[in-house]
Amino acid sequence: MTAKFSRRTFFKTSGLVSAGIAATSMLPDKFLLWAEEKGMLQASQIPTYCEICFWKCGALAKVINGKVVKLEGNPAHPGSRGKLCGRGNGGTGLLYDPNRLKTPLINTGTRGEGKYKKASWDEALNFTAERMTKIAKKYGPESMAIFTPTDHFLPLISAFGSPNVGMPSFAQCRGPRDVGLELTFGDSIGSPERLDMLNSKVVVLLGSHLGENMHNSQVQDFVESIGRGAKYIVVDPRFSIAAGKAVKWLPIRPATDMALILAWIHIIISEELYDKEYISRYATGLDELRTAVRDYTPEWAAKETDLKAADIIETAHMLGRRAPAVCIHPGRHATWYGDDVQRTRALGILMALLGSWGREGGAFFATKASFPKVASKPYPEPSRPALNLGGYPFAGGEGVTQAIRTATITGKPYPIKGWFVSGTNLLKALPNQKETMEAIKQLDLLVAVDVMPFDTVMMADVILPECSYLERHDALAVGKGKSLTVSLRQPVIEPMYESKPAWWIAKELSKRLGLASYFPWNTYEDKIKSQCSLWGINYDELKKVGTITIPDSSNPYITPLNQPEFKTASGKIELYSHELKEKGFDPIPVYTSHEKPEPDEFRLIYGRHAVHTFSRTTNNPELHELYPENEVWINATKAHSLGIKNGSYVTLINQDDVKISHIKVKATERIREDCVYMVHGFGTTSKELKKAFAKGGDDQGLVTKYAVDPICGGTGMRVNFVRIGKETINA
Ligand code: SF4
Repeated sequence: MTAKFSRRTFFKTSGLVSAGIAATSMLPDKFLLWAEEKGMLQASQIPTYCEICFWKCGALAKVINGKVVKLEGNPAHPGSRGKLCGRGNGGTGLLYDPNRLKTPLINTGTRGEGKYKKASWDEALNFTAERMTKIAKKYGPESMAIFTPTDHFLPLISAFGSPNVGMPSFAQCRGPRDVGLELTFGDSIGSPERLDMLNSKVVVLLGSHLGENMHNSQVQDFVESIGRGAKYIVVDPRFSIAAGKAVKWLPIRPATDMALILAWIHIIISEELYDKEYISRYATGLDELRTAVRDYTPEWAAKETDLKAADIIETAHMLGRRAPAVCIHPGRHATWYGDDVQRTRALGILMALLGSWGREGGAFFATKASFPKVASKPYPEPSRPALNLGGYPFAGGEGVTQAIRTATITGKPYPIKGWFVSGTNLLKALPNQKETMEAIKQLDLLVAVDVMPFDTVMMADVILPECSYLERHDALAVGKGKSLTVSLRQPVIEPMYESKPAWWIAKELSKRLGLASYFPWNTYEDKIKSQCSLWGINYDELKKVGTITIPDSSNPYITPLNQPEFKTASGKIELYSHELKEKGFDPIPVYTSHEKPEPDEFRLIYGRHAVHTFSRTTNNPELHELYPENEVWINATKAHSLGIKNGSYVTLINQDDVKISHIKVKATERIREDCVYMVHGFGTTSKELKKAFAKGGDDQGLVTKYAVDPICGGTGMRVNFVRIGKETINA
């Protein structure tokens, strides 16, 4: 007998209708979405903001019977404008990754051996608090350092009495950029960067491979600005995605960017293409600058950069003639060669000469609207100052990560005995893994809080499993672009397994450390509610819409009635920096030639892939499927001359004889002959990351050498050279 199997029968049979669709978690998302579209199932749409990277795009989570089936961009959010990038769409991959940390774990073997016992939250938190207290008693609270990009544990460590905060996002990434622009304009460019690309006539990308570094709204601006007629000049030793959209690709010799920028400055001054009125009104130091760049001719720069002098001149003219609607993107990851503050200063000086800082099509000013500061209990004054070995005067309060690491190894100027690591994979972020491992060996305590068992997490003495961003509240995200926005992160489903939100972990630890008064709220939602009430935000509305934009009338551009304020020592744009001069640095950037690769060597450069955020996404099942392993890009002609075939696997050996083996070759004309390129973040050593383990090559493993920026302490990491290991060619 053949049963008539209608859709209705199917639902009845599968129990979806009568049993309240209890089995939906077993059904494919596509089916659930189809059923929802047909009106058979009901979905809720819950706003939050994404954490697959730091862009914090507003997202809408579609949830059917407790399962997140789809993530979409929140149209109300300026970072997403209704769209998520590929990685953001893969947020459910993180949520349902079977390799997630599920319970607290306490190490039972030697550190790094990977032997753990499951622990209750009480056990794990007591263990952590007892060890922290022991360190404070024996060495002082400053001997406990924290590495984190997130908000919850900073109050805890400050209340504990330690000033030692290490932020890889500063010292290994944007620090020199921010410091360079602050020294020039008295302000940084912000994040997301305040770049008016949509209204630009010319955009320079130097140190930014937009489209591969997938910053959602900026990539949307990139695409739209091209549609509106903006001309792109892309400076990159590699023919990047962005270079493919440019009117001019300048395949520069790596490490010579400053020569190009100084030559542009030279041309713009000597041909009087600079904005005279803007400079005389707002800047100081033009005469000194004119003298300082006198010898940086295009012909000189051509030799340094391996570009044609005619191209340097032509692009300088493009900039000068279309100013001020010229956008010079200062990049984001700025720690390259150790003179990175000065390189960013040179970019800033160029922006100033073009009059594009504060002008339409250049860099706009952030809204003047702001929220009142939320009062909190003052933290105790640490009895010893924050570590700043080397005395980098502009390291700021965000710490010098390698100073913490060095003090951990040497015990000087005082011992560091505990690391609290949350949301950062230090073995993949800091240069010289050997030093990081050496430091880890010296610790009495390594605490890791994370969602996934990353390499550094698997070195910890105690692992506290955090739930993903889709299962928790976090700090309100305040956006200061042309408008002021506030966005809410809220749980779209309950935490899975035994994972807990970071705010809960911090609060529970505070109770055990006698610091509960610094966390004077019951739940983080309570804290957010009282913040909203102080800021005049309707919390119920925010919960419903995810992002609220505060109406304000700030003008993002300079006008006769809207005059800028430059918070520099002189109150002007400092083409010549008295502040740098006083501290013993060059007041105007000076070109220094960097080491070049030997004939059998390549400079190692690294970057991003559109579907990954460093090592944090390599195990994400959805994103792993799209790009499972990185490759080493080698110039095709060079590869041919070395007998290396496209698609073969090779070993890379750096100048210190550190090797990484079995990395796939991408032989391509899209890269210069003197460098190789890898997408950063692959080659994980954590066996718990079943998909990512040993896939691809660990570029960071080859970064044994680094050049510390004497101004801000950032670690320049593009100073390593590699050879191709002959023994494994075409294996
Ligand atoms: Fe998420 Fe992509 Fe936005 Fe980053 S850019 S926050 S990954 S949607």
